[in-house]
Amino acid sequence: MQELNNILVTSQYTLKDALVSLDKSGASVLLLVDEEGVLQRTVTDGDIRRLLLTGFGMEDTLTQLPAKKPVSVEVGISGPDALAVMNKYEISQLPVIDGDGRPVALHLRSEIQPRILLSIPHMGELEQKYVEEAFRTNWIAPLGPNVDGFEKEISEYVKTGHAAAVSSGTAAIHLALRLLDVGYGDTVFCSSFTFVASANPVLYQGARPVFIDSEPDTWNMSPQALERAIQESLETGQKPKAVIVVHLYGQSAKMSEIMTICNRYDVPVVEDAAESLGGLHQGQHTGTFGKFGVFSFNGNKIITTSGGGMLISNERVMVEKARYLSTQARMPAPHYEHTEVGYNYRMSNVLAGIGRGQLAVLDERVLARRKVFELYKNGLSDFECLEWMPEPDGDFSNRWLTAVRLNPEKTRIKPVEMISRLSNFNIEARHLWKPMHLQPLFSEAQYFSHTDTDFCQDLFNSGLCLPSGSSMSNEQTSFVIDKIRYILNN
Ligand SMILES: *Cc1c(COP(=O)(O)O)cnc(C)c1O
Repeated sequence: MQELNNILVTSQYTLKDALVSLDKSGASVLLLVDEEGVLQRTVTDGDIRRLLLTGFGMEDTLTQLPAKKPVSVEVGISGPDALAVMNKYEISQLPVIDGDGRPVALHLRSEIQPRILLSIPHMGELEQKYVEEAFRTNWIAPLGPNVDGFEKEISEYVKTGHAAAVSSGTAAIHLALRLLDVGYGDTVFCSSFTFVASANPVLYQGARPVFIDSEPDTWNMSPQALERAIQESLETGQKPKAVIVVHLYGQSAKMSEIMTICNRYDVPVVEDAAESLGGLHQGQHTGTFGKFGVFSFNGNKIITTSGGGMLISNERVMVEKARYLSTQARMPAPHYEHTEVGYNYRMSNVLAGIGRGQLAVLDERVLARRKVFELYKNGLSDFECLEWMPEPDGDFSNRWLTAVRLNPEKTRIKPVEMISRLSNFNIEARHLWKPMHLQPLFSEAQYFSHTDTDFCQDLFNSGLCLPSGSSMSNEQTSFVIDKIRYILNN
């Protein structure tokens, strides 16, 4: 519970004093009491902001606040009962008062019920064994038996020839572009609906990204927009140097069609499978269709090494070159010899140990995330306004994050409101990725939409991600379902 001394204020406090008190106490609420110490109302940042917006100044006092009967409870209430009251009023702090109405304590939701987060790391049993092995044998450096083992195990898992373990998924994309000789003035086509890490490496290489819309069946790259973009670029005499296809939220893009198109025009494909490890398209692992595939083991991904990535390819020479570039492009010589620019991108042997343990439980993690998705979908199936991310026949998504649209024709609730109201219940939800062609960073970039409407912009405006961790309990998913139900009904 919160120390009360720091958060009690009277109506003689100026707005400035109140802001200072909020700041100092670290609390998100102040308790306004009268001369007898009786609770009058709560005061939040928002209350003060509203006064300032209506023209009051920093030197005005809290007497300007309208009266507002505070929600409070009496001494002796249990944690679960306090939580029920907070849920009823969608608040996260609840003052406790004595028989005379004086505040004696403040219940905080975060103390009773930990926040339900979007996606948290979920360790298995073997990670520690591999990490301890690295310590015991003093293989702490980048390179070592865990790195070799992790590369081998990943390539066996996805049934692809070769893998290079690196420091991040972004580094793996960068290496792929380097290996494809992407350079200054080249163009690279990339899914627009993605996280910025897919496109940043294009800029690292001084090339120009061209963004491609999504299509409704997978929410990923539209083959028809891609083909239009390639044809148009051929007309201007500049073929794209590469296509970066993203498999968002664990769902494969239409890889069969995309590969047919790219093979027809002879354009190499890099698959950004950072979010889709374990996901399949027609029985084949995402990341293994193109010339290169990329996985990420960042902390929020389906399996994690805390930070890390993997570049995969069937071409052994390419993967060997990736390892060389990621260790400062050091030539095999008895001294330090360099003929081209390299990077410090290799994964450490300690982190690779975590990765090996995580890979052993990947299939379980995929099933757990798919189950979370099914629980949401079934638990909310009576709401026609909810449109769940599709999974076409023949595909198998890892359902990294449960993504859903709020159909604006069937509900007035927008993602921004849903996200902030879920946050009142200590539930973390997020907007879908904001498309790259709408980002100020890429305001100059060319964009090809699926049809005459901009589909991924629609997705961004109408969709959100729900908490989806593989360690979520059934109680937690039920709680989120309850609250979504409540918000949609009220
Ligand atoms: C996480 C992510 C990346 C980058 O991976 P890092 O390991 O964080 O560098 C790239 N693309 C997408 C779509 C991602 O979600």
